Amino acid sequence: MTMLKEGRPTAPEPVKEAHMAPATATGNRALMLEEALIFEIGSTATTGVDFAPAPSVASRLGKLARTDAIGLPGLSEQETVRHYTRLSRQNYAIDLGLFPLGSCTMKHNPRLNEKVARMPGFADLHPLAPQSTVQGALGLINELAVWLIKLTGMHGVAMTPKAGAHGELCGLLCIRAALEARGDARQVVLVPESAHGTNPATAAFCGYKVEDIPATPEGRVDLEALKARLGPDVAAVMITNPNTCGLFERDMKTISDAVHAAGAFVYCDGANFNAIVGRVRPGDLGVDAMHINLHKTFSTPHGGGGPGSGPVVLSEALSPFGPLPYTARMADGSIHLIEEENVGEEMPQSFGRMSAFHGQMGMFTRALAYILSHGADGLRQVAEDAVLNANYILRSLDDVLDAPFGDSGPCMHEALFSDKGLAEGFTTLDIAKGLIDEGFHPMTMYFPLVVHGAMLVEPTETESKAALDQFILALRSLAERAKAGDEALKGAPYHAPRRRLDETLAARKPVLTWTDPALAVAAE
Ligand SMILES: *Cc1c(COP(=O)(O)O)cnc(C)c1O
Repeated sequence: MTMLKEGRPTAPEPVKEAHMAPATATGNRALMLEEALIFEIGSTATTGVDFAPAPSVASRLGKLARTDAIGLPGLSEQETVRHYTRLSRQNYAIDLGLFPLGSCTMKHNPRLNEKVARMPGFADLHPLAPQSTVQGALGLINELAVWLIKLTGMHGVAMTPKAGAHGELCGLLCIRAALEARGDARQVVLVPESAHGTNPATAAFCGYKVEDIPATPEGRVDLEALKARLGPDVAAVMITNPNTCGLFERDMKTISDAVHAAGAFVYCDGANFNAIVGRVRPGDLGVDAMHINLHKTFSTPHGGGGPGSGPVVLSEALSPFGPLPYTARMADGSIHLIEEENVGEEMPQSFGRMSAFHGQMGMFTRALAYILSHGADGLRQVAEDAVLNANYILRSLDDVLDAPFGDSGPCMHEALFSDKGLAEGFTTLDIAKGLIDEGFHPMTMYFPLVVHGAMLVEPTETESKAALDQFILALRSLAERAKAGDEALKGAPYHAPRRRLDETLAARKPVLTWTDPALAVAAE
């Protein structure tokens, strides 16, 4: 083996497949520690606290007093800390490496945001605190609302939805309220084939009939098919732009004009706003409602790292129907949270509430910190760099992986590949599992549905060229192995805590509760 002058090997040491390596007595593999369920390691004989036994007092619980053992695992503080630390090391995180999950915008979460969100004046507020005592927090929500309106060129914004899908629900409820207000009982929502699954789900949840609109061979909405389907029964069209094939819907304004002429509304899925923020304003494209995933575009943590937040920007036509509460600046400069009791004079047409309080305060704080630290020029650069990084990946790999829309010109912030050209019997799943062994979270796979064996890669703007190159090296090597029919790839991952799982069984019959084996035996 050749060594650097620092004494490290110049290339990874070739290892035998991990499953061929001798087993250890503990099941641990060096730094990769096995960890059982907390119920299996805990025992009621141990506890993290050692209070003296309480003096015996007569119970006042009566018949409600517990008679069985409580069955919770007792652990010392150290055992508890080790349990969760060990589990955390089996997880992948944006703080560990590139997270190429397409459509999810897994970008770096700047620590400045975290610092601001933890300031006690924001973090320790009670949602029912008197409004005069939380003017700073209300002012922050209001300022973020103004930024979101400005960045999208829209008229109003509903801040309370708690995620993208919740925002879709909010937008469609606004559309339904607007249609009801004019006595129009339209029943159909049109959704392009390439839509995110949440779009048709939301429309169906609102009681609409969902109809597909096909995509063109170039991966965009089929404008003629859409125009042909518009009519007096269509309430709305839900369009993702940039779409899930990683392409900008160039006909968006023409689509909006046709939809409006037919008396319907345009819902835009704005989850991909990262690709166009600072460059395009959805309001200029005729959009009536669009959710913004603060946890994607504006870098607030998500995917186990924190809750989401999905504000919905609204056109002038829909704004009167938006949910309560919302912030408003009064004549004296103070900020007021407009609630039900103000509805009489303020917003008689609001469809109601989306959530108990005003939304996700911690996410608002982080998103505003992100926006202010980037500024207008910085946000524009976010979109440009996100698109540049995705195109770098697309063009670095389109010689080994099929890029179905590679001829449609540059992509937006996501590079889309298909399984075409892999050796007989090799699938997208094999490449995804191989990526785990290479130390990456897999890309989004089998989505969008319009592409066979889709692999959707979103690098985001926060990855360096060195990080992109390493990811490209890994994906290239896996693509080459899958094309050459390397059977070993079908067994990947070899180095992860678990090998291939029965994912269908896990999804269909998840085991979500723990049963004490002793009790299970007793019950038999
Ligand atoms: C992430 C995403 C959604 C849903 O957003 P959540 O915050 O996960 O509810 C909807 N559409 C697209 C295109 C997305 O990428």
